[in-house]
Amino acid sequence: MQTVSTLFINGQAVAGEREAFPVINPATGEAFAECPGASPEQVDAAVAAARAAFKTFQHTPDAELQAMLHRIADLIEAHADELAQLVTLEQGKPLALAQMEVGGAIGWTRYTADLKVPVKVIEDSEARLAELHHKPLGVVGSITPWNWPLMIAVWHIMPAIRTGNTVVSKPSSFTPFSTLKLIELINQVVPAGVINIVTGEGGIGRAMTSHQDINKIVFTGSTPTGQDIMRKAADNLKRLTLELGGNDAGILLQDANLDKALPGIFQTAFLNMGQTCAALKRLYVHESQYDEVCQRLAAIAKQQVVGNGLEADVTFGPVQNKAQLDLVVELVEDAKAQGANVLCGGEAQPGNGYFYPPTIVAGVSNGVRLVDEEQFGPVLPVIPYSDLEDAIAMANDNVNGLGGSVWGSDIEKARSVATRLESGTAWINNHAEVLPHCPFGGCKMSGFGVEFGEEGLLEYTQPQLLSISRG
Ligand code: NAD
Repeated sequence: MQTVSTLFINGQAVAGEREAFPVINPATGEAFAECPGASPEQVDAAVAAARAAFKTFQHTPDAELQAMLHRIADLIEAHADELAQLVTLEQGKPLALAQMEVGGAIGWTRYTADLKVPVKVIEDSEARLAELHHKPLGVVGSITPWNWPLMIAVWHIMPAIRTGNTVVSKPSSFTPFSTLKLIELINQVVPAGVINIVTGEGGIGRAMTSHQDINKIVFTGSTPTGQDIMRKAADNLKRLTLELGGNDAGILLQDANLDKALPGIFQTAFLNMGQTCAALKRLYVHESQYDEVCQRLAAIAKQQVVGNGLEADVTFGPVQNKAQLDLVVELVEDAKAQGANVLCGGEAQPGNGYFYPPTIVAGVSNGVRLVDEEQFGPVLPVIPYSDLEDAIAMANDNVNGLGGSVWGSDIEKARSVATRLESGTAWINNHAEVLPHCPFGGCKMSGFGVEFGEEGLLEYTQPQLLSISRG
């Protein structure tokens, strides 16, 4: 087994100063490569390089920043096959989905390149001209999770660079290689020190979140880690964007067209084997349709081909890591013990890979852990309701508030329900759809701040009011 990558600090490929760590292919349960481990001193070096680069990079003309991002998109495109293979090897998702992830990374980079940082004229009078400008923040620390490793790194890094910031990136230790490759490519375009990468677990993350010379942390990951980051950020008032856990509810209205809705519900509940922050994680169905809906969802689940994502015809890969698999098992076993009816799946597959087939669980309600907690895996609990008001109350009865959805034919009725969901996004007849022009973020314990679109871009900036007296 070999170390297949290096860290990048100040434009240089450097070896890790800590012991390299194995990265496991979740389809085999075996390590397929070693990742270099960064030391806390290397975090300091990366931040120092980013700080030094910021002095000049912040003044880069807008058109140059835009051109840089397009050149980066070209490079991602040129290395698309390699990146998709890396994503499947380290993350487990089927290759076609990994190719979609790479395609998304390219599309997001190009869209972000073309965004403009607006100047708002607040007042233009005889007394004064008042304009609101936006300046970069400085050094941005990006900390990413293991579910969409390449895509989420792009979501963090591109708007930061586009607005003239410099970056230190830390990928999840479960999935570091696609990000290491991305940073290698970005370094071919931007000046030394603009993008740096360190690797390692929570200790390296904490070295970043408590670092006095980092001005903002953009974090995607679990809520407990987000809380820790927020505490650490207080010392130098770091700006924060926190995209945290979700436990999204979907409400199926009685007038929904089931032929259209059910494939959509399945797809958005099990996207990336359910390891998608804004996947549909709890489905509320009227009691008159309950049995039919459960059976039809189970029938779709049984059509999935579970296996190694590198094999042709596989539509459903493994859970990404053992701890996540153990959590899924624990929550389904707990539901079974409480009388749940598992209609398909419901058991981890024997063997070394972390395979758990798509699982539909009926006969559960709020108050069961599988419904109340974020299981972040390939399981959909289906909960009956008799009264729509109860369904809305149950949907909102959760600490999380990332996304939510309503499925129905009468759009005005669906809209009146959707607007009552306590969530950062409310979809009608869809779920988990994120787009580069639509601001996306959570409420309640799912975090704060948004990514994407102009609003997302401005999170990497500091407003400055320029007031010119004409008196
Ligand atoms: P995690 O919080 O365990 O880890 C995320 C990252 O934080 C990793 O890089 C990890 O090394 C680092 N980290 C861990 N402890 C740290 C600390 N104390 N300080 C700084 N960094 C630290 O999350 P995960 O298990 O990798 O990802 C799954 C979670 O991410 C789920 O809860 C999921 O809902 C959430 N998620 C949210 C979104 C969103 O947009 N809201 C998107 C994807 C994933």
